[in-house]
Amino acid sequence: MDINNGFEKFFSGRWIAGAHIEDALEVAKKFNSKNITAIINYLGEAIRDKDKIEATVDRYLFIISKIKENNLNAEISLKPTQLGLGFDEKLLFDSYAKIVGEARRNNIFVWLDMEENNFVDDTIKLYYSQINSKNTGICIQAYLKRSIIDVKDITKKDGIIRLVKGAYKESSDVAFQDMEEITKNYVELMRYLFENSKRFMIATHDLSIIELAKNLNKIYNRTIEYAMLNGIRNRYAVRLAKEGKNVYIYVPFGEQWTKYAYRRLREGGHALLILKSLFEKQSID
Ligand SMILES: Cc1cc2nc3c(=O)[nH]c(=O)nc-3n(C[C@H](O)[C@H](O)[C@H](O)COP(=O)(O)OP(=O)(O)OC[C@H]3O[C@@H](n4cnc5c(N)ncnc54)[C@H](O)[C@@H]3O)c2cc1C
Repeated sequence: MDINNGFEKFFSGRWIAGAHIEDALEVAKKFNSKNITAIINYLGEAIRDKDKIEATVDRYLFIISKIKENNLNAEISLKPTQLGLGFDEKLLFDSYAKIVGEARRNNIFVWLDMEENNFVDDTIKLYYSQINSKNTGICIQAYLKRSIIDVKDITKKDGIIRLVKGAYKESSDVAFQDMEEITKNYVELMRYLFENSKRFMIATHDLSIIELAKNLNKIYNRTIEYAMLNGIRNRYAVRLAKEGKNVYIYVPFGEQWTKYAYRRLREGGHALLILKSLFEKQSID
């Protein structure tokens, strides 16, 4: 589907910068002007074609060069299945190493997104292959029952965690289903991070969690980063940045936007809120 046309443009444009790198750079620049760092993601997942994976790696290397050239405050975030997870392990590890290496040379931070539950072990293994680079972090999902074990293990190894609730449909064997339970687990994991980690990212639009994090940080005084997705609570993010907090906005771009938009749409069944966020002004000008 062409993101630059009609309905798709209206629908996806609230969340997705556009089809091209220039669109993402433009959005990043706007957020930078409000003291917010962009986390740029080139949309794409479940790629099972060597040429396409290599093209994706080249695209990320190009993004890194553009961030540098434009002197932007921006990080990047990768989906392991766009680099070969579930398809070709060697290509996956080489691709991640290549991107992290180039990003390190340019002083840019690289996040690993977390995808479906069956990829968690391999994603953590991938992360550990570059953990010593120090310019890379990993997303952990609070809806997964296993996450406390992963958070402890990653924290012990001095890893950097971006904590989210989780966006995929998972079975009750592996994941909490009830939003209250998910939020409770999020708070437990977050408390663990406050007690045991020096630096981590609170990635949520849940204002009660953000308020709690602010209060906990008065006690723990950690380097925490607050992150949100583009188009959900942009104006709130600007307010948070004005308070002097480290704020990040995840900015996806590219043609492969449907799965991303679908996940936003089904987000916890917040149908009314989603409609509200679609129609509400998200402009930060
Ligand atoms: C920076 C960042 C990176 C992420 N990376 C990943 C990842 O790698 N893997 C992964 O599985 N998930 C990822 N997510 C998504 C995350 O797992 C959740 O699906 C998403 O953030 C919604 O959960 P929430 O914490 O905002 O809480 P919720 O309880 O779902 O939402 C809290 C409030 O935020 C508002 N809100 C939330 N979502 C929407 C929406 N779509 N439209 C309108 N309003 C909304 C509503 O007011 C809602 O009441 C990421 C999220 C962020 C912010």
